[in-house]
Amino acid sequence: MHWKLKKISRMGGLYFSRLLNKPLVKPSTITITLTNRCNLYCMMCDHWKNKSKEELSLEKIKNIIDQVSKWGIKGIDLSGGEPFVRKDIFDIIQYATKKNIAINITTNATLLDKEKIEKLINSSVTRIQISLDGAKAETHDLIRGKKGSFRKVMETIDCFNKLKGENDIKLNVTTVIMKQNLSELIDLIKLAKELKLNSITFQPVVDDNLDIRRRNMLNPLRIPNSQLGLMDKVINEIIEIRKKGPFIGNSIQHLESIRKYFKNQPLKRIKCYAGFNFGVIAPNGKLWSCMGDFSNLDKETVKNSWLSTEAREKREMIKKCKSPCLYPCYLSSNTDNLLQATINILKGK
Ligand code: SF4
Ligand code: SF4
Repeated sequence: MHWKLKKISRMGGLYFSRLLNKPLVKPSTITITLTNRCNLYCMMCDHWKNKSKEELSLEKIKNIIDQVSKWGIKGIDLSGGEPFVRKDIFDIIQYATKKNIAINITTNATLLDKEKIEKLINSSVTRIQISLDGAKAETHDLIRGKKGSFRKVMETIDCFNKLKGENDIKLNVTTVIMKQNLSELIDLIKLAKELKLNSITFQPVVDDNLDIRRRNMLNPLRIPNSQLGLMDKVINEIIEIRKKGPFIGNSIQHLESIRKYFKNQPLKRIKCYAGFNFGVIAPNGKLWSCMGDFSNLDKETVKNSWLSTEAREKREMIKKCKSPCLYPCYLSSNTDNLLQATINILKGK
């Protein structure tokens, strides 16, 4: 099928899945959270404080990949914690590569060297999502809790650029907007362009990343009232850059929502597709959503868990979410107005 028809059909499928609370389309990807462990100590993250060593075994992960492949899902996301702290990470990548599954990896990019980067380039990894939180080394290192992290990220990106040759592997960065880096966001966009990255996507700092629905206006990482004027100016500039092309991964509506989120203003009409668009497997082996687990994959297949009554109940709660976390991957403005979105796709916008 032509890619435009595929995109329209998926968009319609998602829209009606959410409307009817009945998954009419398969998840586009399955995210496997490989670990909670991490080698960094980011200010906004609670993963590294989590002492749980619970992780899926290599055998279980291979079994999940088999199921994903059999179900006809073409991609998996490997995330953490930091995926590269796992000693068997390349066994996992190799296994998914043999099954022809496209892999997206989210990483802090501090544990990669030339040999590992070569292996990644020669695998079915199609996209690497790198965290970058400052245009200056001191800002990134302060936020990430480890000196030398920025330098390591720069070396990793440089090495990818030198080695990737004709390989179309995409390197994207994600930046968490917070008080500590607000004044550097425009420079970060410039840096991402200089580094020949494919895109940069912003997300606002969440107040509690173990419960992304929680709000705490006293969170010291939030943008304080005294800096809201600066935030308006910065968001306006990002929107202007976004209007010129898709290098900024957020939609304009999403950027406007980030502005409102920091001002603690009500957010307009945000539809969350968590639990509809893609599945997330936690290190404890459960298909997971912010509203709670679906069911344990020791007892169920991924597909049955996705179609289960528990999943339906959690999706009902997701539809009623009153504290949107603004994770860009969950929110879709495309499906709000199907007709307009269809016209946009047909026009190639
Ligand atoms: S690199 Fe990621 S997982 Fe590790 S501490 Fe930072 S935000 Fe958390
Ligand atoms: S917006 Fe979606 S992912 Fe975020 S807290 Fe609400 S239901 Fe969960």
